Amino acid sequence: MLVTSLRGDPKILPISAARQIASGVASRIQQTGDELSFPETDIAALDQYGLLHAPFPMEVGGEGLALGAAACDKLLHILRALGAGSLPLGRLFEGHVNAVALIGLYGTHEQLAALACRRASSALLAVWNTDDPSAPLRLISDGNGWRLMGRKVLCSGAGFIERPLVTARDESGRILMVMPYLRRGERADLSKWTPTGMQASATGSVDLSNLLVTNAELVGDEEDYHRQPAFSGGAWRFAAVHLGAMEALLDLCREHHLSTRRGAEPHQAARLAQGMTALETARLWVERAAFLAEVRNENAQATVAYVNLARLAVERAALDLIELVQRSIGLASFLRPHPVERITRDLATYLRQPAPDRALVAAAEWVLDCEQTIADLWS
Ligand SMILES: Cc1cc2nc3c(=O)[nH]c(=O)nc-3n(C[C@H](O)[C@H](O)[C@H](O)COP(=O)(O)OP(=O)(O)OC[C@H]3O[C@@H](n4cnc5c(N)ncnc54)[C@H](O)[C@@H]3O)c2cc1C
Repeated sequence: MLVTSLRGDPKILPISAARQIASGVASRIQQTGDELSFPETDIAALDQYGLLHAPFPMEVGGEGLALGAAACDKLLHILRALGAGSLPLGRLFEGHVNAVALIGLYGTHEQLAALACRRASSALLAVWNTDDPSAPLRLISDGNGWRLMGRKVLCSGAGFIERPLVTARDESGRILMVMPYLRRGERADLSKWTPTGMQASATGSVDLSNLLVTNAELVGDEEDYHRQPAFSGGAWRFAAVHLGAMEALLDLCREHHLSTRRGAEPHQAARLAQGMTALETARLWVERAAFLAEVRNENAQATVAYVNLARLAVERAALDLIELVQRSIGLASFLRPHPVERITRDLATYLRQPAPDRALVAAAEWVLDCEQTIADLWS
């Protein structure tokens, strides 16, 4: 078992640990064929090797990977590595980092310290923002605290996550962030989570009605959740997970060419080269987006526009790569248990992110309004 094989090497660096965990997940799925179960063992491994702790700020004993220069540097490689091994695991880890980043930006030291000491499977956090349109989550004042009413949908880790960060509207219309306490296996419904890919992310609905929360469980202030550039700028992180899966796909395509000795045929060679171009395009966008969002971060609107374009450029590159790889390998890439079959399904599903048209138009609007020359937009 992977956790055991890693034990005894506590000084392992986070990026190396992520690579080992990722390669362990990929080979386990290949051997057992189980791509559907929530990856509890792998999350335990993430915790055991400090990867759930590392995103927390240094003042609470973490490595500060969720925000700032360390995010751009180490976190990017970790997200890529996990995406290459398993997109559901990468998605769950990305949600955890998003939660730590939001609490780091808007929460209190006490909240961070309390979450940073959680261990094992209960250490994994998540951000659940998507409301069930028929029962959007509300915060109703109740004595000295609040009562939650409503349901969230598309919640990764539903039934497993014990401290999700959720958005809810209060009676005066303010959108606030809350971290209620949940018990495993309760309130979650996975019956409608029947996707073609990403099944293991357990992205179900959660009914939070009648949960009581205190002021200590509120994070930040009114509208902090949507505050820019963090709200849109954080999209570079899921794009980094997508990038990792793209790298795994192209590795598998090259392996196929080498084992079938078909790679030198001009059409195959051309597709491999086009795949490399798509991959490198995605990598350059993700790295620059991470740099602008986490290191430079001087102009919120410029960062948001860049990251919006980056996530769409990665989406386009990934869709192109899926087609190139499927055409190169042919029918075998649609047959289970070929790993390309699983990765393309997971990637196509995970590429569906909120409001892509709006992201494109918003970036174009910003470019239209800018006074700089195009050459100077992000220089
Ligand atoms: C594996 C997975 C895990 C997820 N986990 C979480 C989670 O933990 N927490 C969470 O909060 N969410 C989660 N989500 C949801 C995710 O954040 C997005 O909300 C969701 O993937 C967007 O799906 P969609 O394609 O239906 O988006 P939509 O935004 O509905 O887009 C669909 C299409 O409609 C267009 N469109 C959007 N709005 C309009 C409009 N008003 N008028 C006209 N056209 C419009 C879009 O441009 C696009 O073409 C997860 C999603 C996936 C795939």
